[in-house]
Amino acid sequence: MSSVRVALTRRPSPGDDLGGALVDRFGRVHRDLRISVTDRCNFRCVYCMPEEGVRFLPRAQILSYEELARVARVAYGLGVRRVRITGGEPLVRRGVDSFVEMLSAIGFEDLSMTTNGTGLERQAPRLAAAGLRRVNISCDSLRPERFPSIRRSGDLATVLGAMDAAERAGLSPLKVNVVVLAGVNDDELVDFARFGRETGRIVRFIEYMPLDGAGSWERESVVPATRIVEEISAHWPLEVLAGSDADPYAPATRYRFVDGAGEIGVIPTVTEPFCGTCDRLRVTADGAIRNCLFANEETPLKTLLRSGADDAAIALAFRLAVNAKLPGHGINDPGFLRPRRSMSMIGG
Ligand code: SAM
Ligand code: SF4
Repeated sequence: MSSVRVALTRRPSPGDDLGGALVDRFGRVHRDLRISVTDRCNFRCVYCMPEEGVRFLPRAQILSYEELARVARVAYGLGVRRVRITGGEPLVRRGVDSFVEMLSAIGFEDLSMTTNGTGLERQAPRLAAAGLRRVNISCDSLRPERFPSIRRSGDLATVLGAMDAAERAGLSPLKVNVVVLAGVNDDELVDFARFGRETGRIVRFIEYMPLDGAGSWERESVVPATRIVEEISAHWPLEVLAGSDADPYAPATRYRFVDGAGEIGVIPTVTEPFCGTCDRLRVTADGAIRNCLFANEETPLKTLLRSGADDAAIALAFRLAVNAKLPGHGINDPGFLRPRRSMSMIGG
């Protein structure tokens, strides 16, 4: 227990919830974990990383797959049932399929990955065989000439090939993540909706969040969810998916095309925060629990993991992190402070 005291930001106090599921002070039950396996990436998307001068974590600070799997197993014991592997770019870390296998053995109800798709064409069968259920592939433009200007690398054909390969390997339903940037790709909303209708893929439009590595986010660059829905609805009427079809904890508001040609998701983090139903936790590649994308405080696990602490100590760290979770992310509050780490360092 002494190692817990060294590593945690504060000691447990009588008000802390130390039994049962991961319930925070506002009654939110945490069942969803995102694990970042690396802060490295082969892309430099304009909304995520600066073009140059990125400093990556030293390798010694990155948790091994065994360490990350142990953290996941403890989280499972605390009621977490969905896990997503992310980064940085998870496919640039060697042997990620072995990590998938470790997570799969734990028994999560859902095991997914968010990726930019590079290398997926080759790796998809292996990942599926290891137990990966589905993938979200990021793709912010369907115009070959525009694609690299947003992602500063890669090409559209490769990403479309990755989508086909993922589906061939059974990684479905396939979701396509689109970060919508005012004046950059917001003239493609209808094109993306058509793409989703024609391919059966679920396109998820994400509001641009103040987590870019360059620190140049501004509110004017955010395309509000209402505009996204209105514009697509004018072509193909949409209705909100409600009741048993909708997951109340999902960050995306789901809409179905009234004519039955599939669905889209819209993630309105900035203009319509959904913090009241947030059930997610994150673990960074260097082993810090983050209770919110925008949190300014983290609960470090690395020292615990490397100093012989038992599983109960790791569980306690999770409980303290959950207990410290704030009611909301505060992006729209006057005193909002961006977190020290940007998206690629946290794991989106
Ligand atoms: N490299 C992988 C990828 O791009 O899919 C996984 C990690 S990436 C950080 C996870 C997701 O976060 C991607 O869909 C990406 O588009 C999104 N993202 C990154 N920066 C963002 C920002 N500032 N606002 C909104 N979404 C962002
Ligand atoms: Fe890399 Fe993904 Fe960030 Fe783009 S969004 S720079 S692919 S981590």
